Amino acid sequence: MSTHDPDRDNASLRAEAKLIDAYGRTINYLRLSLTDRCNFRCVYCMPPDGAPYMPHRELTTYEELLRLCRIMSGLGIYRFKITGGEPLCRKGAVAFIRRLKRIPGVDRVTLTSNGTLLAPYVEELADIGVSGINFSLNSLNPEHYAAVSRTRAGPEPVLPVMVAAAKAGITVKINVVPLRTYNDDDLPDLTRFALENGYHLRFIELMPVGLGMTCTGVPPHEIRAVIERDFGPLTAVDDVTGNGPAEYFRVSGYTGSVGFISAVSNMFCRQCNRIRLTSGGFLKSCLHSDVGVELKPLLRGGANDAAIIAALRKAVREKPQTHAFGNVAPENSGQRFLMHGIGG
Ligand code: SAM
Ligand code: SF4
Repeated sequence: MSTHDPDRDNASLRAEAKLIDAYGRTINYLRLSLTDRCNFRCVYCMPPDGAPYMPHRELTTYEELLRLCRIMSGLGIYRFKITGGEPLCRKGAVAFIRRLKRIPGVDRVTLTSNGTLLAPYVEELADIGVSGINFSLNSLNPEHYAAVSRTRAGPEPVLPVMVAAAKAGITVKINVVPLRTYNDDDLPDLTRFALENGYHLRFIELMPVGLGMTCTGVPPHEIRAVIERDFGPLTAVDDVTGNGPAEYFRVSGYTGSVGFISAVSNMFCRQCNRIRLTSGGFLKSCLHSDVGVELKPLLRGGANDAAIIAALRKAVREKPQTHAFGNVAPENSGQRFLMHGIGG
C-alpha cells in the first residue's frame, strides 16, 4: 500500500518553501516600491527641492517585478503593499497591480498613497480586489497640511477619494506622522474625522531615518493622553486587519479605530514579517539597515529562478534581529535611507 499523502506532501513542500530568518521569523509580507518619485515633499521624507530621481531605466520594470513576485509568492509571501514615492506617479501602476493580484498565492494587495492621484482609479482598484488603501493625511487644516507636504495643496481633494474607496468596499486607513509644531494640535480633529467616518486612524511614530532625523516627533504616550482626554478610554482590540505592527484601540460608540505604530518606543522587531523592495530593485531585509541584495543585476544578467531564490533566502537569513534606531549613525541620513526610495 502506498504511503503517499498528497495533502501532507504539499503542506511539507509549502513549509520548506517558507522564508524563515535566523531568528525564526517567517517572512510573508513584501513592501514593494514602484517609484522614488512623488508630487509631495513631506518634511520627514523628501528634501525640499526634491531628490535626484532614479533614471527610468534603473527602475525595476513591471515584467521584472512580476517575475520576482511570482517567485516570492512561491516562497510564502502572500501580502503585498504597493508603495513609493507616490505609487500612482508611475505610469501603468494600476495595470501592474491587476497583474500582481492574479499571481497564484498573492492573497492580499494593499496600497499606501497620499491619495492625490487616486480619484480616477478607485473603482478599478476595487474591481482588481485591492483590499485596503492607507492614505497619508497629516492634517485637516489646509495650512498645516501644506506645510508638512510642502505643496500648495490642502487635504480637501483627498477626502472624497476616501469616501469613494470605502463605498467601493476598500478598507480605508489614515496614516498620520505626528510632528512637533506642524500637526501636534491637529490630532483630536483627525481622530474625530476618522472615527465619525468609520476609518482606521494610525499614528505612525516618526522614525529617525533619512529626513526623519531632521524633525521632532510626538511620543505615543502623549498622543494617547490627548485622545483619551477628548474621547474617553481607548479599548485595545485585535480585530482590525493589517499586515503587522499596529496596536489598535476602539472608542466607545464608533466603528473606526485608533492605532499606534511605534517602531521606536515600542520595538516590534520580534514580530517582524516583512521585507522591502526599493524602486531600484534592492531587497532590503530591514528598514534601518543596508543588509539586503541587489536583485536587478540578477534579473538583467539572466539568472534563473533558483539563483534568485538563493539570493532571497540569503537576504532573509541575514535580516538583522532588530533595527538600530537608538543608535543613529550619521550615514543613516544618506541617499540609501531616504524614505521615498524605500517606500516606508
Ligand atoms: N507616498 C505614499 C504615502 O505617503 O503614503 C507612500 C510612500 S511613504 C514613504 C509610506 C509611508 O512612510 C507614509 O505613511 C509616510 O508617512 C511614512 N514615512 C515616511 N518617512 C517617515 C519617517 N521618517 N518616519 C515615519 N514614517 C515615515
Ligand atoms: Fe511623498 Fe509619501 Fe514621502 Fe510624502 S511620505 S514625500 S507623500 S513619498
